[in-house]
Amino acid sequence: KRKQTPHPTIREKRKPPMPTRHDIRNVAIVAHVDHGKTTIVDAMLKQAGAFAAHQLDSVDDRVMDSNDLEREKGITILAKNTAVKYHPKDGGAPITINIIDTPGHADFGGEVERGLSMVDGVVLLVDASEGPLPQTRFVLRKALQRRMPVILCINKTDRPDSRIDEVVNETYDLFLDLDADEDQIEFPIVYACGRDGIASLTKPEDGTVPADSENLEPFFSTILEHIPAPTYDEEAPLQAHVTNLDADNFLGRIALLRVEQGELRKGQTVAWIKRDGSISNVRISELMMTEALTRKPAEVAGPGDICAVAGIPDIMIGETLADPENPVALPLITVDEPAISMT
Ligand code: GDP
Repeated sequence: KRKQTPHPTIREKRKPPMPTRHDIRNVAIVAHVDHGKTTIVDAMLKQAGAFAAHQLDSVDDRVMDSNDLEREKGITILAKNTAVKYHPKDGGAPITINIIDTPGHADFGGEVERGLSMVDGVVLLVDASEGPLPQTRFVLRKALQRRMPVILCINKTDRPDSRIDEVVNETYDLFLDLDADEDQIEFPIVYACGRDGIASLTKPEDGTVPADSENLEPFFSTILEHIPAPTYDEEAPLQAHVTNLDADNFLGRIALLRVEQGELRKGQTVAWIKRDGSISNVRISELMMTEALTRKPAEVAGPGDICAVAGIPDIMIGETLADPENPVALPLITVDEPAISMT
């Protein structure tokens, strides 16, 4: 007997597909300290710069030489997110990959929750010799609980003491242990040597470099394929979530936001919905978006964009900027104490 096609659920029937920001991916890289996060993100920036120079002649997209990178590095810490503008090989529209830094260890201040509330998926970066270490367990658990897809990147595959098969198995066991769902457990694996800026989808065998690892292209394409692009509701009024805070000598407090619905514009008056539920109208005096490692002034941020806003001195994490005509708060970001859930 032939298998019947399952009936679409009522939900599927009623809901038209949501519009998607195909030009954005928001991803967190989770790694134990020293497993090579900084190095691989730098390599991604370098490669993205090289692609831009190759394909575009716009001044803004010029190659960043290593001096530029070094100089801008000082600002990374403040920018809190890195935006890699990736130009697909086929000449398609560029895609902004926002990389959010989450601490690779359990933390008590909610930095993990804040980081994860900005992204739609996670790259778990694991040293090919050390394997997954207990400190990343808390972060991974949080990502899995949020039903996010996770990509495993085995890094430093060049290490003579690398033990790739064992490390993959250890990671697999860890996922099982943390109740990964059936999609999450099918995590894609990328093998990388971040220091040399190369990655492959094929496992390196005894020092033999797989044929597809000329650069980080396999890493980029895995991110594009497995981390969902943000979706939104076209009709919905503005909702932007304060996911982190920063400070600047000249601009004062800076709120980092993920726009969920609608658009946030420089100069616009928005409703600021505070933690206690009270609402006041405020003006967006400065709007910024990250390019590579620095923040640049911007006119508008749309759904899925991560942006920074200055000029609201007492704004707090978890609060919402909304349409003054229709102010609806986003959920407050809840924070678990890792001490309870470490094991
Ligand atoms: P982070 O703490 O995760 O940001 O790690 P870093 O990027 O600072 O790298 C930690 C150390 O690992 C540094 O000494 C790097 O030179 C080294 N490292 C980074 N990537 C690689 C790699 O692909 N292979 C090897 N063998 N070492 C690497």
